[in-house]
Amino acid sequence: MIDTHCHLDFPVFDHDRALILKQAQGYGFESIIVPAVVQKDWPRVIDLCERNNLITLNFALGLHPCFMNQHASVDEAEVALNEAIVRSMIGVKNSEKEGDAVETIGGRLVAVGEIGLDYFIDSPEGNRQKQLALFSMQLSVAKKHNLPVLLHVRKAHDEVLKCLRRERLEKGGIVHAFSGSEQQASQYCELGFVLGIGGSATYDRAKKLARIIRQTSVESLVLETDAPDIPPAFARGERNTPLNLPRIAQAIAEIRGMDAAVFIQQTSINAKRVLGL
Ligand SMILES: [Zn+2]
Repeated sequence: MIDTHCHLDFPVFDHDRALILKQAQGYGFESIIVPAVVQKDWPRVIDLCERNNLITLNFALGLHPCFMNQHASVDEAEVALNEAIVRSMIGVKNSEKEGDAVETIGGRLVAVGEIGLDYFIDSPEGNRQKQLALFSMQLSVAKKHNLPVLLHVRKAHDEVLKCLRRERLEKGGIVHAFSGSEQQASQYCELGFVLGIGGSATYDRAKKLARIIRQTSVESLVLETDAPDIPPAFARGERNTPLNLPRIAQAIAEIRGMDAAVFIQQTSINAKRVLGL
């Protein structure tokens, strides 16, 4: 099982992160992907993923559209993102060269993320243009380094699809916590993207999402928790954790009328394919 989107670096996990990872290891997790949201968190995310030796934590570096007031200018951000990516990539190569057999489950950079457009948040005039400029820059950085992207999109799917058609990322990526229409779902899939599905699907009211889960090819779905956010129906109002993923996966498999073990295995294959794990 792979949790393709989990903010395990957030301070809300400081007191029991080690315990969660220990339990996740027992649950048979193959990997958890930790996407960064602001530049000041990049070292924290990298550190967490490289030092952990329980299960493989891989990371993504990017600038999230909901934190526009914390980001540098687009030009400065581009320099910083390029530098951080190159450093991460060189780091991986060095440890391989040393033939260091010790604890090489240390995670590595697998994507640019979490990036995107959020037109749902109430924001001042001009914010959308700033989001768009930052997002376009990050797409071109992903393309330059031949990396997939982890997308955060709310009320902006058509705009994001337009950007993706322009940029044509060979590696595609994951549309995390997919919330669009059936038509938008198939357009992402045509562009080589897969849909991240998690706790939202466990609510009875999520009829549209259930329809999309049934209609989308199983090769185009991956699992995620978005912990600590998006708690599933069975943990409503609580902090979400990656340990909820087995039950979330079970619920999604039921929506598809599939055996849960087969569904989990297929979604892991999909995550590995897209993220090059
Ligand atoms: Zn997120």
